[in-house]
Amino acid sequence: MRILVTGGAGFVGSHLVDALVAASHDVVVVDDLSTGARSNLEAAIATGRVQLLVGDVSHNIDVDGQFDVVYHLASPASPPAYLARPFATLAVGSEGTRRALDVALASGATFVMASTSEVYGDPLVHPQTEDYWGNVNPTGPRSVYDEAKRFSEAITYAYHRYHELPVSVVRIFNTYGPRLAAGDGRVVSNFIVQALRGEPLTVYGDGSQTRSLCYVADLVRGLILAGQTPTEHPVNLGNPQEITVLELAHLIRELTGSTSPIEHYGLPADDPTRRRPDIMRAHDVFGWEPHIDMRDGLVRTINAFRDELAGH
Ligand code: NAD
Ligand code: UDP
Repeated sequence: MRILVTGGAGFVGSHLVDALVAASHDVVVVDDLSTGARSNLEAAIATGRVQLLVGDVSHNIDVDGQFDVVYHLASPASPPAYLARPFATLAVGSEGTRRALDVALASGATFVMASTSEVYGDPLVHPQTEDYWGNVNPTGPRSVYDEAKRFSEAITYAYHRYHELPVSVVRIFNTYGPRLAAGDGRVVSNFIVQALRGEPLTVYGDGSQTRSLCYVADLVRGLILAGQTPTEHPVNLGNPQEITVLELAHLIRELTGSTSPIEHYGLPADDPTRRRPDIMRAHDVFGWEPHIDMRDGLVRTINAFRDELAGH
């Protein structure tokens, strides 16, 4: 197949591209390298199956030929990254999504929208099922990301209803693994880098808020299935193993053998207090469930960061 991946030079996107290439597909990546990096795609590009086009999908998606699947992953994903670029985040969720949908429509390709657990905001239903409409502050700082993704879902289903485009909307829960950008501010990369450098681990608030962490290889299997199986309804992709942020700090200290102290800082505005996916639908529709245990995934990630920090 020939597959377009917007945001394919980022953390998730580059792992997806690797998996697509391993399955002998040809891949075109459009990425503006704002939070991603060409180096993430080095091995994939070396196969000769991947073309990287550097560009902002909110302005233009200048691609030729037919596609079988279009994955729309382009968007800042880390809270500090999207809070620093609010207008670019709103643009890529709205204009960027519309342009990616038009590319899919021109080919009759299946469109996979990388949505997020943030559409549930600070959830009042726990664990989060897909039929929960969420509790998002529509004017708070995080709204530039949350509402952009909610718009992305709405326009994706509008193309499905009015143009009969085959679509899969996947709501991705916190995912981690090698190639998380060391400086992008997400909790797993922050804690691992801090622990390996012997710096204090920066826990925001008292650390009682929870997240449920999915290893990137598990997520990528789900994304591949989403590209093969258009669905009428959004599907959560995440690992229901839930942990408090403070427990995570202790676990990463233990797994790295670090003696870094834990320091507490202010909690960011509207930081969700708990988050855990109900993955029954992913199981029913895709036959998907995560396989990689959190300790195992964290050790793999720590080893990758050790190599990266050592300059390998
Ligand atoms: P990332 O920041 O590593 O990757 C995003 C990629 O999109 C980067 O390569 C970036 O350069 C590119 N990009 C951003 N704006 C662009 C634009 N206007 N035009 C072209 N390229 C652009 O983040 P990630 O974790 O790999 O996230 C990928 C997708 O998955 C995002 O849409 C994100 O919202 C979604 N998601 C990720 C998670 C997670 O935990 N990793 C959770 C929920 C949703
Ligand atoms: N967090 C933290 N210290 C950090 C980075 C994040 O305590 O250095 C917390 C953050 O406040 C949130 C959780 O960890 O409660 C997950 O944050 P992240 O930015 O990874 O993703 P989010 O789930 O908020 O989008």
